[in-house]
Amino acid sequence: MDNFFQPKARKRFGQNFLVDENIIERIVRAIAPRETDRLVEIGPGQGAITALLLHHCPGLTAVELDRDLIPILKFKFRDYPDFRIVEQDALKFDFGSLAGDGPIRVVGNLPYNISTPLLFHLLGFRGAVRDMHFMLQKEVVDRLIAAPGTRAYGRLGVMVQYHCKVQGLFPVPPQSFRPAPKVDSAIVRLVPHPTPPYAAVDENLLQRLVQVAFQQRRKTLRNAIKPLYPDLDAAQLPLDAGRRPETLSVQEFVQLANYLSTLDQ
Ligand code: SAM
Repeated sequence: MDNFFQPKARKRFGQNFLVDENIIERIVRAIAPRETDRLVEIGPGQGAITALLLHHCPGLTAVELDRDLIPILKFKFRDYPDFRIVEQDALKFDFGSLAGDGPIRVVGNLPYNISTPLLFHLLGFRGAVRDMHFMLQKEVVDRLIAAPGTRAYGRLGVMVQYHCKVQGLFPVPPQSFRPAPKVDSAIVRLVPHPTPPYAAVDENLLQRLVQVAFQQRRKTLRNAIKPLYPDLDAAQLPLDAGRRPETLSVQEFVQLANYLSTLDQ
């Protein structure tokens, strides 16, 4: 009766359903859900991971955009009265509203077409989040864990590493899904820092700086920040202005942003 109605996977919702039980178990083991956790799953789909998560944490909340999946999930998990489904676009959802008196734990095999904006959206709720475990395109996980000076290092990696401890966990091959995606996937764990180890005085300025720094990767630092600070005396920068921005560590970006914030005043 479990498969009473299996709708076709929808491309526009980034639907690739997990079918590999070993991978599902490995993901849930990595999450290690507890009964009292405020667990939130983004994009439960047909409930492949949800089923095992609910077994450990019956009060799970799921956020799903595809309304055709809602009755399937409700039926499948009818024996879990505390299971809640929010029919909403996760990109617009206020995750902070689920935190209450304790932080939430966010998990999901994310729709790959919206994963980057979704990660930035979730960073906005980092104060209400204990940790996040996601399945992403492997290339995106490579960007999240990238070190300075590597090709994968960019705005996404710097900003996520600024706010979170990032850990790549394990790869997942295309055959683990139906339909099989054209790309490799991987699991990543993000744990928001209670306070960033290197704190920016002005986080908006840090964001703008990182954005311009990676807009033209081949420019020197001096030329990259010119659009933001046309009258800047590059000799005064706390770092060598002849460096390529992509060689700066997160700490150095913060150091630079904090110097620039003194000029703003
Ligand atoms: N968790 C399921 C699994 O592993 O088999 C499904 C994963 S599938 C890659 C992504 C899921 O996210 C789909 O169920 C899709 O409908 C849902 N989804 C897509 N866009 C969404 C959005 N903006 N907000 C919430 N869910 C979304």
